[in-house]
Amino acid sequence: MNLLVILTVAVFVIDAVVNVGTHLTGAHGIIFETCFDASAMAVSLFPVLYIGVFKKLVSKNAELTESEAKLAAARDELELRIAERTEDLAAANRTLEQSIARSESQRNVAIQIGDTVRLLQACHKSAEAYDIIAKKIEGLLPGVAGALYIFKSSRNVLDRVKEWNVQVLFSSTSFRPDECWALRIGKIHKVDAHDLSVKCHHLTGDACSTICVPLVASGEVLGLLSVGSRNQRAGNDMAPPHIECTAVASEQELVYLSLMSESIGIALANIRLREVLHEQAIHDKLTGLFNRRFMDEVMDMELNQADRNKTPLTVVMLDVDYFKQFNDLHGHDAGDAVLAALGRCFIQQARKSDVVCRYGGEEILAVLPNTDLAGATRWAEAVRQKVECMTLSHQGQQLGTVTISCGIASYPRNASNKLDLIKAADEALYRSKAEGRNRVNVAMGLVVADRCDKDSIRPSGFAGDASV
Ligand code: GH3
Ligand code: MG
Ligand code: MG
Repeated sequence: MNLLVILTVAVFVIDAVVNVGTHLTGAHGIIFETCFDASAMAVSLFPVLYIGVFKKLVSKNAELTESEAKLAAARDELELRIAERTEDLAAANRTLEQSIARSESQRNVAIQIGDTVRLLQACHKSAEAYDIIAKKIEGLLPGVAGALYIFKSSRNVLDRVKEWNVQVLFSSTSFRPDECWALRIGKIHKVDAHDLSVKCHHLTGDACSTICVPLVASGEVLGLLSVGSRNQRAGNDMAPPHIECTAVASEQELVYLSLMSESIGIALANIRLREVLHEQAIHDKLTGLFNRRFMDEVMDMELNQADRNKTPLTVVMLDVDYFKQFNDLHGHDAGDAVLAALGRCFIQQARKSDVVCRYGGEEILAVLPNTDLAGATRWAEAVRQKVECMTLSHQGQQLGTVTISCGIASYPRNASNKLDLIKAADEALYRSKAEGRNRVNVAMGLVVADRCDKDSIRPSGFAGDASV
């Protein structure tokens, strides 16, 4: 179409030019003719040039532009895909990092649980274990308040044996089992800040997010681990004053706490069993006093201690008067009940450091560390009077009274070794018997103990001079 227009215009132009040219003469005519020929040639060649070269160039150019557009689109799509892939990779990397962090923390918790179990296994006493449990739970949930409760042997009350981080979260030092939902349902009980409807009664009003974990071993609940956070006042320039509650533990931490508690329960049961066995091994069942084997061990240690500290160690041998007669009169069971009552009385009269043991049938030996003859005499006399004043009964039958006789000897004053010391106390006891019973006597013999300084000689006249 364009070409047709151009050709038509060209024909008109040529026609006009020819009309002008036919009126020129001379040199002007020659120039005009030359120009006219050149123009006519150019016009006649134009369609050939247009079709042969220019059109091809134009179409080539269009192809190139189209290719460029396609390339740009492909590049954009590629860039988009790269961006998406990069984001996917970053997300995968984040997931990997999180999972590495999780496995690392799981590994740490497994190590912590292992450590806790090993430490608890090495504990001789429950009290040692309570300290370790508190530290380990605090390590697991840093900054979180916690308390450890243990069932009393009566099993109707739990006593708080340890608490950490805060003192006001847990209402009382002891509570009944039905005051805790975890103990009622026999599994972990978690209370969130937004749902306080099932909050345990043994927690104070301040407690908001709490977890109670029963400590169980072989199906028996031994105690309770309770952790929690409190409502706290918060607020700053951005937020007005309000009450805020921090969650006590994440879901993951809850799993760790549960695992840790299982190990703690088993460890506590083992320690308790060991304690019971140990108690049984060192105590006399009837009187509750220590047994003779334990006294033997303790006395060796106490004598060493007395040497180291340069302090006296005094023993009192006590024997029930006419006990055979008592048995004959009231029966052996009544005699047993009297021995049990005497045991309770002696335990009551003893200090923590004293070791009172059942030495024989109705003979008792009291080992009094860091006590001299005068102190031991006061103690024996007080015990003698207590026994004399006891009113005894058995199965509704009045048994009257019993009396005891005592013999006292002190280390290093009256003996230089364990056997001689007991022998000296025994001799003093037999003097009490011989003098009419129901009395206290001290040993007669005097020993210059090895531990005394060579220069310092004991003043004579001290032997057996503690008057009763
Ligand atoms: P004494 O004043 O001289 O000590 O007289 P006694 O009768 O207490 O002394 P003896 O050693 O002759 O008798 C001790 C009695 O203690 C003999 C035994 O019947 C009694 N006895 C020892 N062990 C037990 C026990 O476990 N239960 C009871 N019921 N009696 C015991
Ligand atoms: Mg006797
Ligand atoms: Mg006897």
